Amino acid sequence: MSKRFTKKREDFNCANCGAQVMGTGYTNHCPKCLWSKHVDINPGDRAEECGGMMKPVDLYMEGQNWVLIHECERCDTKKRNIISTDDDFDEVIKLSKQMADKKMKK
Ligand SMILES: [Zn+2]
Ligand SMILES: [Zn+2]
Repeated sequence: MSKRFTKKREDFNCANCGAQVMGTGYTNHCPKCLWSKHVDINPGDRAEECGGMMKPVDLYMEGQNWVLIHECERCDTKKRNIISTDDDFDEVIKLSKQMADKKMKK
């Protein structure tokens, strides 16, 4: 068995809020502030070279899931992420209120 096939777990420090994030192999965003980093082309492949910070720009319910839209600050790529149970739900609620306020002002 080669180690190459082991699912990669990466611990990282969030570049936005500094929180230490325990990698699960799936998480690509910070559970504390919900920011992400532009490192994947397809989820989990870490094949993207951009490496820009991705900020949460939209959040909505889809069926049973919360869907979070990230936008890269460097290249404007938008990505869709499902909120996981590891994420800080207070932050999700806070963010959803911010998004609602923003939409109201438009
Ligand atoms: Zn963070
Ligand atoms: Zn990017």
